[in-house]
Amino acid sequence: MSLQIQSNVSLKPFNTFGVDVRARLFADAHNDSDVREALAYSAAHKVELLVIGGGSNLLLSGDLDALVLRMASRGIRITHEDCGAAIVEAEAGEPWHPFVQEMLARGLSGVENLSLIPGTVGAAPMQNIGAYGVELKDVFHSLVALDRESGELREFSLADCAFGYRDSVFKHQTGRWLILRVRFKLSFAARLHLDYGPVRQRLQEQGIQAPTPMHVSRAICEIRSEKLPDPAVLGNAGSFFKNPIVCAELAERIKQTHPGLVAYPQPDGQVKLAAGWLIEQAGWKGFREGDAGVHALQSLVLVNYGSASGLDLLTLAQRIQADILERFGVTLEMEPNLY
Ligand code: FAD
Ligand code: NAP
Repeated sequence: MSLQIQSNVSLKPFNTFGVDVRARLFADAHNDSDVREALAYSAAHKVELLVIGGGSNLLLSGDLDALVLRMASRGIRITHEDCGAAIVEAEAGEPWHPFVQEMLARGLSGVENLSLIPGTVGAAPMQNIGAYGVELKDVFHSLVALDRESGELREFSLADCAFGYRDSVFKHQTGRWLILRVRFKLSFAARLHLDYGPVRQRLQEQGIQAPTPMHVSRAICEIRSEKLPDPAVLGNAGSFFKNPIVCAELAERIKQTHPGLVAYPQPDGQVKLAAGWLIEQAGWKGFREGDAGVHALQSLVLVNYGSASGLDLLTLAQRIQADILERFGVTLEMEPNLY
């Protein structure tokens, strides 16, 4: 037995909202055998198993009568290299941003636009993490997951994962797949994505004419730090709502009353709306009730000023959802995983 199970543990340090709930049981999984031990314990003691990574996409609404297993496995290796590309395998517990930095330091490009996203490698496929025009699926090769129902290992290819906008097969089969390691296809020759948001402009302002992936990563880190609250300072889980994808007719109707609508046409004819813009127009930016609030610089981010409970944050989120539905006819879907 190497798994160390603790009882009655506060999860405050393990979720970036900083919500203070307790887990009946808690353990770190450092390797596959810890994971298997936790599964066996969960079955033998009939206690639910909840797997977490960095806790940066969680909303914990109350104490958890469960064994919370935090993925803490480490290891990054190049498994294949040829023709200017490499397949890199990383263990689920690897922290995401240091992984990005290590890839850049090794001269590998592809993940630079995903710099400074909190959390772990193993959680990245869950919602197909994305930022600044790049999604995990663009650099994904395959992953290995444990089927919690059969106890068998399964390989997932890109097609198997059914990645979509902040979506994957894993989001729809909640709790079935425990991701153990992820493989990425990265390139030694940089193909930069600079056309999204203020990235290109930032590089130009800095006088960088021929940017490298490292320059792009640094610029994105700067932009993000200026706009987004640091969870170490102010509790949050990043964007609280997904940007809604609506039919063109609805987007057009909203535009007639709100000509400034921030909308991005999608290849399938639908339109992605900036949820933050809708929330700001509805007057929620900077709103605060007790310790639950809407961030003053980015309305898509709900924040915990100190002692907000998960329910306080959920109640605020539901008020915003109801208001946006009434004003614009748009349904906002919550992004963090609710437990
Ligand atoms: P957790 O929050 O611990 O878990 C999330 C979900 O995944 C849970 O359902 C959990 O059960 C499950 N899970 C975790 N690990 C595993 C595993 N190994 N196997 C199976 N299931 C697992 N997201 C973006 O997409 N783009 C961004 O730009 C972005 N920016 C952010 C900025 C801030 C400041 C914050 C706080 C969050 C941001 N996020 C962003 C959201 C979040 O960081 C990502 O979704 C991240 O991938 C979550 O990783 P995690 O390890 O913290 O997962
Ligand atoms: P932003 O640049 O102010 O843009 C607002 C929204 O408009 C974004 O959410 C983005 O959607 C969309 N958008 C902007 N330019 C676009 C383009 N050229 N084509 C299509 N859609 C476009 O957003 P931000 O809040 O500062 O975040 C910057 C990036 O980091 C975004 O990609 C965002 O998703 C990501 N981010 C995500 C989280 C999270 O928790 N999920 C938290 C912080 C930042 P998309 O979201 O689809 O990109």
